[in-house]
Amino acid sequence: MDTHKEQESWNFDLSFRVTIPAVTDPEDETYKRIVNVVLAALRYAISTCSFAPDSVESIVVADPAEMGEVIHTWQDDAGIKRGYTGDLGAEFATAAKTVARTTESGEVKSKIVIMSGLLYEIVDVIEQGLPLEEWEVQKKLALYVPAHELGHGHDNFLRKHVRGDEIDLKEERDLELISKHYAGVLASEFLACFYSSAVVSPEFQKYLIEEWRRQADELIESVINQKFSLSGDAFWFASHNLWFVMVEFAKLVGHRCGNPELPRPVPWGHALKDELVVFEKLEDFLVAKLAPPAAISGNQSHISQSPEFDLDGFVFDNLFPVWKSLCECYGLGFGDEEDDPKDGGDSFEERWRQ
Ligand SMILES: [Zn+2]
Repeated sequence: MDTHKEQESWNFDLSFRVTIPAVTDPEDETYKRIVNVVLAALRYAISTCSFAPDSVESIVVADPAEMGEVIHTWQDDAGIKRGYTGDLGAEFATAAKTVARTTESGEVKSKIVIMSGLLYEIVDVIEQGLPLEEWEVQKKLALYVPAHELGHGHDNFLRKHVRGDEIDLKEERDLELISKHYAGVLASEFLACFYSSAVVSPEFQKYLIEEWRRQADELIESVINQKFSLSGDAFWFASHNLWFVMVEFAKLVGHRCGNPELPRPVPWGHALKDELVVFEKLEDFLVAKLAPPAAISGNQSHISQSPEFDLDGFVFDNLFPVWKSLCECYGLGFGDEEDDPKDGGDSFEERWRQ
């Protein structure tokens, strides 16, 4: 496809898995318009954030019904376990996903799938040349998503290794294993947000903070509801929902670490003192231990860029106690002697199952 020429320092394949018939015909006007919008969005993200060239080898714009198959094919090709693609509930349906693989030359390259509807939404503003500040928030989101995925590509490329097998989150009941998975997700999301933070404006960050508060409220409420339901498994719910709240918070901190002009994410106004302490601890860890020294260059080495360093394990060791403290805010206690994760002892799982 000759559209690649427009990305001279980049060389990815752009393709489509969409059901609009015209979009399968490269000569059709609709097809050309969509291609132009995709390229304009990517060009904006690439030029604003200076991502590592060639960290991404392929971008597919797909209809929602096609996304799962695209992702699974890539995961199979890369020899990665078919991961969990974020279907905890309809509201978490993924708008885009990045899958990394190690190439024959030993580089880590990523493939990105983006939901088609997201990009259709910005056809008009891109064609009109409307300045970004004047875009509605939903349209800003449509531009932010590809930038964020390119941020994952950048992070994957600098890390020089692909994350190992993932657990089956639907079946897994071991809270430590689930937490380890989310610790890895949190590290990856934090770094992708850090690297793509240049596309986030203060107003957009404010919008994302409000969205996080709203979503966190729902997720926490469902954990509390499980606690009072006879058939509930509140700790298992907490291992997903409360980690999810932490991951989404880490993304906002990631934006701000990369772009200090952005507002600082703080919990909702009626937050309990204990909740505030938990999010402060999380923020402190991210700012002091996980933020790379230089936003983009990758010249200064960072713990995430050493294949020998167990980044996910490091994040888990530091944040598992924070997650437990968050659980305790909602009456899900692990017992006082469990506060220090280093003291060993019985599996806390056995205790709460009694
Ligand atoms: Zn992400």
